[in-house]
Amino acid sequence: MQSKDSSKSNFNIPKIKFTQLFINGEFVDSVSGKMFETIDPRNEEVIASVAEGDKDDVDLAVKAAREAFDNGPWPRLSPKERRRIMLKFADLILEHVEEIAALDAMDAGKLFSVVKTGDIPNVADVLCYYAGAADKIHGTTLKMSRELQGYTLLEPIGVVGLIIPWNFPSPLLMHKVAPALAAGCTVVVKPAEQTPLSALYYAYLAKQAGIPDGVVNVVTGFGPTAGAALSSHMDVDKIGFTGSTEVGRLIMHAAATSNLKPVSLELGGKSPFIVFDDVDVDKVAPLAFVGAVYNKGEICVAGSRLFIQEGIYDKFVKKLVEMAKTWVVGDPFDPNTRQGPQIDKIQFEKVLSYIEHGKKEGATLLTGGNSLDRKGYFIEPTIFVDVTDEMTIAKEEIFGPVLSVMKFKTVEEVIKRANCTKYGLAAGVMTNDLNIANTVSRSIRAGVIWINCYFAFDPDCPFGGYKCSGFERDLGMEGLHKYLQVKSVVTPI
Ligand code: NAD
Repeated sequence: MQSKDSSKSNFNIPKIKFTQLFINGEFVDSVSGKMFETIDPRNEEVIASVAEGDKDDVDLAVKAAREAFDNGPWPRLSPKERRRIMLKFADLILEHVEEIAALDAMDAGKLFSVVKTGDIPNVADVLCYYAGAADKIHGTTLKMSRELQGYTLLEPIGVVGLIIPWNFPSPLLMHKVAPALAAGCTVVVKPAEQTPLSALYYAYLAKQAGIPDGVVNVVTGFGPTAGAALSSHMDVDKIGFTGSTEVGRLIMHAAATSNLKPVSLELGGKSPFIVFDDVDVDKVAPLAFVGAVYNKGEICVAGSRLFIQEGIYDKFVKKLVEMAKTWVVGDPFDPNTRQGPQIDKIQFEKVLSYIEHGKKEGATLLTGGNSLDRKGYFIEPTIFVDVTDEMTIAKEEIFGPVLSVMKFKTVEEVIKRANCTKYGLAAGVMTNDLNIANTVSRSIRAGVIWINCYFAFDPDCPFGGYKCSGFERDLGMEGLHKYLQVKSVVTPI
């Protein structure tokens, strides 16, 4: 691992333009007037003070969204018209790609170059995909009996509350906002308190694109206050949530004990990355390493449980350690950096405490394991071997650059061990044997299986989890249908 000093970065940080709540087409202060600080994880300095929304602000935002849904133009526009405006929104995002990428890179410690060339273009792609879907929302016709016929109408579900995490502030926001808009819904977005800035920028661009007032509202603030107010609100028709399994439970409870609104949950993971003896080690080991430490391991589909078949185990592990030793940790604005800082102090300390657990429970630390001796929340890429399925580092989602490596012998064994987790978000299967690839893919209980690739996303490819990783799907047509209601209309023939 090599470290880079952040003072070497010469990137011109943009001025922060938007720090107020966005309600009914206007930037406004919170009712309480309170603000909170968003912190740069590179240097622990304040980036900006942002309005702290709470229950009163959520009430105002939901009221605006309700009015826009019940009486405003958005749900009543022709789908073609909605498509045109959404495409304009996508164009505006691409015009401002550098500025938005800088906001996410600063707020979340993400690599600027990756956000600029990956996350933000993905946001525009997803908007275009759902813009194109807006006029392809079809019901069915029903021939019911000699006397009766019917048809189904797919109607927008209404006012949608969207609660977003900090690790991919832009894509995870647009994976929900874009289909909700295409469906004709109105939304209240609650971004993570660590990464509020890009959400406010999107609200501004939505207005510039011609999305009517009240359709997109953003309430920045904290989970237990603003987030809880949104999920328990009596006038919100659906909650779309991405975040931790613990908070997912709270959201279901809030929905169940308020107006019984449906929720969709995209939650945590502890994904197995399985490598069989027949692969080219030089090609697959880098994929496995990046599969675990991409975005500093702050990714729900991190392949953090690496199962390697015994025949190539030693060679594979050697290659992983070589990768870790040359991996550059440092300023996310420096183009040479491969890994930025963890999101905040809480997460930083949590990851380091998992590393201590690994050592205490008897895993062997091969490389890494330390924070960097400088300001900011930097942690070395860390590799443990001799990990057993029962160890904490093999069971719990660490959300940091920590890889647990395990050896296996047979296909049956690895399927059993890969499924030995409460999570079921993703899995990687690396082999040139089609039969093995198919058998493992069908046997793993997870929502996404990547064969001989990893982190392969597309707007058309549904994404979501089994078991404690959640339910319903973002992306694809499944990601649109969750914002629609089915109404059956029956008439005599
Ligand atoms: P988190 O659950 O702590 O927070 C997510 C969001 O929920 C934030 O906006 C937060 O303010 C809000 N929140 C917190 N408490 C709340 C409450 N009581 N009521 C309503 N809202 C509340 O998660 P995080 O730490 O921001 O993100 C990390 C987690 O997200 C990890 O577990 C990760 O696996 C998961 N994640 C899942 C996916 C996926 O698609 N499955 C994607 C990214 C992240």
